[in-house]
Amino acid sequence: MNINKNYDNLEQSYLFSTVAKKVNEFSLKFPDKKIIRLGIGDVTLPLCKSVVAAMHKAVDEMGVQATFRGYGPEQGYDFLREAVAKYYSKKNINLDLDEIFISDGAKSDLGNILDLFDVNNTVLVPDPVYPVYVDTNVMAGRKIIFINANSENKFLPLPDKDVKADIIYLCSPNNPTGAVYNKSQLKEWVDYAKNQNAVLLFDSAYECFISDDSLPRSIYEIEGAKDCAIEFCSLSKTAGFTGTRCGYTIVPKNLDKLNKMWLRRQTTKFNGVPYIVQRAAEAVFSDEGQIEIKENINYYMENAKIISDTLDKLNIWHVGGKHSPYIWLKCPNDMSSWEFFDFLLNEIQVVGTPGCGFGNNGEGYFRLTSFGSKENTLEAMNRLEKVNVKEHMV
Ligand code: PLP
Repeated sequence: MNINKNYDNLEQSYLFSTVAKKVNEFSLKFPDKKIIRLGIGDVTLPLCKSVVAAMHKAVDEMGVQATFRGYGPEQGYDFLREAVAKYYSKKNINLDLDEIFISDGAKSDLGNILDLFDVNNTVLVPDPVYPVYVDTNVMAGRKIIFINANSENKFLPLPDKDVKADIIYLCSPNNPTGAVYNKSQLKEWVDYAKNQNAVLLFDSAYECFISDDSLPRSIYEIEGAKDCAIEFCSLSKTAGFTGTRCGYTIVPKNLDKLNKMWLRRQTTKFNGVPYIVQRAAEAVFSDEGQIEIKENINYYMENAKIISDTLDKLNIWHVGGKHSPYIWLKCPNDMSSWEFFDFLLNEIQVVGTPGCGFGNNGEGYFRLTSFGSKENTLEAMNRLEKVNVKEHMV
């Protein structure tokens, strides 16, 4: 037996373990100080009422012989695929049901899709980035090249026509930066992908946080995208499904071979999402469900506004927060990401995520999230306003 040696090339990520270690040490030393966590990437509000009711009903069905369900279609029940298709049709995007694949979340599909591509493809990934895109390709042994996201391009890099790539990752609204591409920027990416004969892997896990109708919530709002793009979406952040697990991936039939290969891959290696969860997901797309999830999203977005208003007041450069639960800020006084982490923890007991954990270009930046409670977000920002960041670090 020979192991997959590519695993030796994975960089160890000490980001979250170091954060936890530093926070633990601090609370042991100062047990009376209240720590506020604005680093979490997980939702905190519960599932909405319609979702819970749909799950209860589905559980009851499973307990009765006449309505019990065993294995379902690997690619998802039609009732949920129809709900997803209807959701897309509201954005004027027409999808056939066999272009929609229900999954247990975007992370698995983002990793699994790589089964379809040769190891000799070159992968283009923005830096900083959601680490899954990099690690899944390292595991497979693909060559990865990075495109710089930085303050000059407001963390929205555009394609460089001289760079050749076969698999391109984009995430908008972005994790970790919260930056959102507009339509003309995404059109550049679509044209670039088509010219290169590349596939665009578009992660729209945070699309629900976009409140401006002129900004694209799906890559298929861009002309030509069905010829080159696969879209990954998730109910995790949209509807609080991080623990319930459901997402969907769109593989257009224009990508004929890939659509068929993905079906083959899924029917071979995946046995579908639980019926109960698919009924819960269906409820997210109902009229009541949409109203209820919007209430939760609005709650998070109010927190995001509290954070970005405070950063504006303090003249701290940042992006994100308007159409995303993430706010990406430049550490004041040229502090490194970890220096700013220590500063916030020690001075005001606020915990965030050092940007350097998301790639080289994240050094000197910091991610705050709006997934906490309003009270805690307000208190954290009050503390930040009171401490004079600039003076402390001269
Ligand atoms: N894509 C991005 C950009 C994410 O930030 C996350 C989760 O944090 C995911 C995908 C994974 O989502 P899921 O819970 O559906 O696997």
